[in-house]
Amino acid sequence: PFDVLVVGGGPAGATAAIYAARKGIRTGIVADRFGGQILDTLGIENFISVKYTEGPKLAASIEEHVKQYDVDIMIQRAKRLAKKDLIEVELENGAVLKSKTVIISTGARWRNLGVPGEEEFKNKGVAYCPHCDGPLFEGKHVAVIGGGNSGVEAAIDLAGIASHVTLLEFAPELKADAVLQDRLYSLPNVTVIKNAQTKEITGTDKVNGLTYVDRATGEEHHIELQGVFVQIGLVPNTEWLEGTVERNRFGEIIVDKRGATNVEGVFAAGDCTDSAYKQIIISMGSGATAALSAFDYLIRH
Ligand code: FAD
Repeated sequence: PFDVLVVGGGPAGATAAIYAARKGIRTGIVADRFGGQILDTLGIENFISVKYTEGPKLAASIEEHVKQYDVDIMIQRAKRLAKKDLIEVELENGAVLKSKTVIISTGARWRNLGVPGEEEFKNKGVAYCPHCDGPLFEGKHVAVIGGGNSGVEAAIDLAGIASHVTLLEFAPELKADAVLQDRLYSLPNVTVIKNAQTKEITGTDKVNGLTYVDRATGEEHHIELQGVFVQIGLVPNTEWLEGTVERNRFGEIIVDKRGATNVEGVFAAGDCTDSAYKQIIISMGSGATAALSAFDYLIRH
């Protein structure tokens, strides 16, 4: 069996694996895609000591760093966790990995709207990351769906690139911080529509519009535009832990300050946890914490 089995190969998991391997204990890492969300990220300017880097470049150097150590890397998806004598992680290919401790770092993904046209027009006008895809919509009319912090931030960002930004919020009020809302309303090329339920993203070979229902009147409206940025939140990749590891109402794994979960020997780190913020540097820090806690657990058991 492994001493430490890390599930997830993003910044949190890679850091946990390096910290564990440096203790000279048997370490494995299983991930369905090494690198995690940073593979989908363009510019990164807040990874301290590196003024500017790009996601795929950072992912490659993280992988190279992990490979400096004696870590078993398995590219597979985990589908179940069970606590027996040891902790067992069942993979999608049917294999069962056994370990004395497990560090879960399966990260998160953007939430989908789930309306017709969204899947069909992904990368053909439907986008999730303004930092990555914003420049593709220079001079065009785009919608941002979601009036929380990320949606309002996206709208402010896109207003500097697009000709016009229409922000649609389902609720009667925006949820974003007041300072962001003030900034948003100060921009001349932004329209905010509240009480708007997005019904469909329309298009031919690419997006040409969006249909929404005004929830106050029940009336249906169509807006002609070229891009739709979906900003309705991040979902933690924790469905596979149903019934085993305790999660909050958002699906985030509940951890203490040592990264411990409610299951003995199981720790968690990064965006899949209830950490206050989701950032590369924060997920790396929590990966280190979880690995040191797993080591501490091992020397006591
Ligand atoms: P992730 O990066 O999500 O990695 C999760 C890992 O788990 C992946 O390897 C995945 O394949 C694997 N996995 C998931 N489920 C399973 C399973 N069932 N079995 C096996 N493996 C599984 N942060 C910044 O600090 N600066 C930025 O500029 C920045 N820009 C961003 C831009 C975009 C577009 C996005 C999406 C995020 C950005 N972030 C940024 C956030 C940052 O990328 C995340 O906070 C960070 O990647 C979280 O790391 P993580 O290791 O917790 O999770």
